Amino acid sequence: MQTTFTEDQLKDAGTARANEILRTCVHCGFCTATCPTYQVLGDELDSPRGRIYLIKDMLENERVPDEKTVKHIDRCLSCLACMTTCPSGVHYMHLVDHAREYIENTYKRPLSDRALRWVLARILPYPMRFRVALLGAKIGRPFARLMPDARLRAMLEMAPKVIPPVSRNDDPQTFPAQNKKMRVALMTGCAQRALNTDINDATIRLLTRLGAEVVIPEGQGCCGALTHHMGKTSESHATAAKNIKAWRAEMQSGGLDAIVINTSGCGTTVKDYGHMFRETDLAADAAAVADIAM
Ligand code: SF4
Ligand code: SF4
Repeated sequence: MQTTFTEDQLKDAGTARANEILRTCVHCGFCTATCPTYQVLGDELDSPRGRIYLIKDMLENERVPDEKTVKHIDRCLSCLACMTTCPSGVHYMHLVDHAREYIENTYKRPLSDRALRWVLARILPYPMRFRVALLGAKIGRPFARLMPDARLRAMLEMAPKVIPPVSRNDDPQTFPAQNKKMRVALMTGCAQRALNTDINDATIRLLTRLGAEVVIPEGQGCCGALTHHMGKTSESHATAAKNIKAWRAEMQSGGLDAIVINTSGCGTTVKDYGHMFRETDLAADAAAVADIAM
């Protein structure tokens, strides 16, 4: 795809990366076959190719995005199915992440959107706050129909009926291995610690049986994906930086063979820490932890 960014625009690292990505797209549309939003909605602007055009236009013209552009980019699920089918290797993830940051910095959302996003960013990444919210949702579910906002109604209806008890396995500690062969850190996640504690418990049992000493490092938390996908870069980088420091401390003290992540979305984000922090003092540490994340 031809692009027309000026030299001045390309001095910005995010724009330069977007330009590289846009230039790899050959408009073939193969990606539309695996994009769930295109398959359901049937609108080209809800396909990867359509969004790529919207992003190109917005960035090249340094345009304040309009409601329509934001709607179609917001609808992207960041499932990255499009990247698996693209024959040209378009790194859609970095492109849409940059577009979201641009939108967050330039577009004024309606008050209800801003309020909802503010609440989500302050509840979901924190397991105890999320648990309290789930309890509230349980109480509020019978009144869901009275909610004026369809998104709040949907959230109330989706909230689980049973909330598992807190698992103390998620606290910072070390689980000894049977016949130790390696030492790994387990990222325990945030929403998962409120929604399904069995996953980490089972992962610890499996890893220790296979000879991995499992450490739950002090100071690790949310991977930052939730706020990253909202374009709230300073918030996502703040939480991601805590993980990088916690894991680097473990790598330098007891040594780590791997950082095990059993939440796929978090894994994708942690593996991208090298890119996210490429322009910062944490670049080398971020690349080192991303390198052993699996
Ligand atoms: S990441 Fe977005 S554009 Fe790509 S397949 Fe998923 S929903 Fe579609
Ligand atoms: S499959 Fe890849 S190259 Fe083809 S339109 Fe989609 S993103 Fe562009």
